[in-house]
Amino acid sequence: MDFKDLGLIVPLLKALQSQEYTQPTPIQQKAIPAVLQNKDLLACAQTGTGKTAAFALPLIQLLYQQKEEGRSAKTIKVLVLTPTRELAIQIEESFKAYGAFAGLKHLAVYGGVSKFHQVRQLQQGVDILIATPGRLLDLVMQRHISLQHIENFVLDEADRMLDMGFITDVQKIVNKLPVKRQTLFFSATMPPEIVRLSQSMLQNPVKIDITPVSTAAETVEQTVYFVEKTDKRSLLIHLLKTNEIESALVFTETKFGADKLCNALRRENINVQAIHGNKSQSERQRALHNFKNKSLRVLVATDIAARGIDIESLSHVINFELPNIPETYVHRIGRTGRAGASGKAISFCGMEEKMLLRDIHKLIAQSIPVMQNHPYQMADANLALPAKPLIAYRSLNRGGRNKTFMQR
Ligand code: AMP
Repeated sequence: MDFKDLGLIVPLLKALQSQEYTQPTPIQQKAIPAVLQNKDLLACAQTGTGKTAAFALPLIQLLYQQKEEGRSAKTIKVLVLTPTRELAIQIEESFKAYGAFAGLKHLAVYGGVSKFHQVRQLQQGVDILIATPGRLLDLVMQRHISLQHIENFVLDEADRMLDMGFITDVQKIVNKLPVKRQTLFFSATMPPEIVRLSQSMLQNPVKIDITPVSTAAETVEQTVYFVEKTDKRSLLIHLLKTNEIESALVFTETKFGADKLCNALRRENINVQAIHGNKSQSERQRALHNFKNKSLRVLVATDIAARGIDIESLSHVINFELPNIPETYVHRIGRTGRAGASGKAISFCGMEEKMLLRDIHKLIAQSIPVMQNHPYQMADANLALPAKPLIAYRSLNRGGRNKTFMQR
């Protein structure tokens, strides 16, 4: 199937050509015609599937056609709500790329930076607004933004909004939108709260379920290293010094852990920076920019800071610590091996993490191959995974949130 077959107009086809996209991805094949017909959408899809283009392309087309018919005033018609500033910036970049020949105005507004420039750009007129919930509400309250004319609303990464505690803000925003609108709802997972939220927002949606969460796990070459917690740092340094790791995104569980690791790697003259919630917006942007243009080899990140970050040709994802939520493992490793590129995921697993590994195995329905020979092999090399089911472990450790999981 070709993009032309989806009914896309010439300015978009031209932009896709300059992006060197030859074929629509499965989510694009399904979503684009539905959005062009003004239908609501409920899409279960994670980043890496091409979901941004799946909503951006048809929305640009709808707006472009309005403009051609002379129906477009400079009021915000399209609103994309996304959980993090990094995603907001990335989505705006996508609108810019796909809309290069459409002549529409787009803007991303997000917290952590001064409102001044955002307000100034808003005053000049914006067609497509990409926003994080807090800053959007702030600007609405201060009457810099009116949501009255929104015709198309995209809720991106709804499950992450829930995880980050943004659902009340999302609901406040939805309440301010015109009732008559098109809503496109995207979520990587569909826990019951998210299903309920979607039902409250969508009318007769076209349903698309693209990514069983284990998809990335099938395309990325994975290895697990059993290693004592205290040896993890040395093992990482060893791998970065000896292995052919061109670029690595290293995940830690905490901001503090990210900084500590970053300092230790720097002492070994490894070119590294960290991104997490305590870093300023400009520091995060700079680190990301350097990582994307390959002047930075190693980026240490927490899950929230790295969520959805789109880095082309990232060779390695390294889980310095295993995540508590198995789906997060799949999201992390999905940062590599994108659009058919080969990627590798290395996970360090300490004694106390074996049960987390077991749960990941269950989710991805495969056992990650174990690296048998490395210099920091666990003294107790009994690699058998614990017999105790992880569900019990989770309910001890994760309290109420576990319910979401078990009901899935
Ligand atoms: P997303 O899921 O929106 O984060 O997109 C993941 C990556 O796939 C991005 O780098 C896009 O530029 C790329 N991409 C999206 N659609 C296509 C396509 N049809 N062909 C090739 N690459 C694509």
